[in-house]
Amino acid sequence: MMIDTSQRAILRSLWFHGALSRSELHDLTGMTPNAVGNEVLQLQRLGLVKELGPKPSTGGRPQIPLILDPSSRRILGISIEPGRVEIAELGLNGDLTVAPISKMVEAEGRLLPTATRLARSYCVRRTLMAAASITGLIDHLTGSILLSSSAPHQNQLSTSVLLKGLDDVPLIIGNDLHAAAGRWAVTHRSQLQEDTLLIAFDDGRMGAVMVINGRPNHGCIIGANELGHTRFPVQTPMCYCGQSGCMERIFSREFLGADVAPAEFTNRVQAAAADDGKSIEMIKLLIMACANAVNFVRPSRLVLASRFMASNSFSQRLTNGIRESVLPHLAERVQIDSWDIKVAGSAETAAWLGLASLLFESWESYPSTVAAGAQHAPVM
Ligand SMILES: [Zn+2]
Repeated sequence: MMIDTSQRAILRSLWFHGALSRSELHDLTGMTPNAVGNEVLQLQRLGLVKELGPKPSTGGRPQIPLILDPSSRRILGISIEPGRVEIAELGLNGDLTVAPISKMVEAEGRLLPTATRLARSYCVRRTLMAAASITGLIDHLTGSILLSSSAPHQNQLSTSVLLKGLDDVPLIIGNDLHAAAGRWAVTHRSQLQEDTLLIAFDDGRMGAVMVINGRPNHGCIIGANELGHTRFPVQTPMCYCGQSGCMERIFSREFLGADVAPAEFTNRVQAAAADDGKSIEMIKLLIMACANAVNFVRPSRLVLASRFMASNSFSQRLTNGIRESVLPHLAERVQIDSWDIKVAGSAETAAWLGLASLLFESWESYPSTVAAGAQHAPVM
């Protein structure tokens, strides 16, 4: 499936404006009426666009509204995280059509084969593409996973098993932060042109991605994806990256105590009571890591993405803390947003990366149009 720039412009207009007639598409995109007609026909053939009944005529030719077809094609989302894979399916209107299904996988060497098997069983004719997200750093030239908490003991994990396993279904792969940024881009149109730093965190996970001029910037190892491995001089268990004191190890259950259960961790993070020194220290270091990233990147907008942002008091504490810790002129200028979203291990968010790649240029981090087994072609 190849979507070209003009077709993308039409899909994007329909996504952001809802139902539009061909002549409205012509006004919005600047394409000639003929070109709009031809591209729409192609998109109808691919099952991406469909006609609604004509609007009541006000004289002249009836206007037939077009919409993104919500049911004929689907995007399969695949999430690969430490010890677990998850699959979900998304319609082109952004609704889940198959609720997420997950599988625990103990051996890290089995993660990709299990994800492949699970994904295969959901690939059907209506599957337009598959989009996979994985924790860690992906080499976009070779498709190798270079450093991942999902497979800390493997030097380089090849994604070719997934690529081969899905046969003809186009596949894109991004890291989980990249997928979250794609979801942000598709659902926050008004902020698309702003340089955005998105920082996501969960228990034992942290990362960041930059969106510049509406496009993802893959960044360098330390600057972008690997914010979780920013180190502080505090005692933590050894990180899989080989160091201790990494932010990912600080913002984690283990940091609060050896037997802290997931629910207790959530409660203590969100409450951060005055007598809970360990939680307060943890949040202080989280604030410092975020503020450092803002001071270096100097974005227009900072998006704090985490399920923990569901708590107003935590969100306020974090936002105010960051504002107090960044350079004064940045404190005035940077817009800080809380985004209550599950980033880690979400197949739904992976599927949104697929939707982003359909609507925007440059989100196809790693398309699989090359033959299985062939050398992966560089795409960026
Ligand atoms: Zn680390």
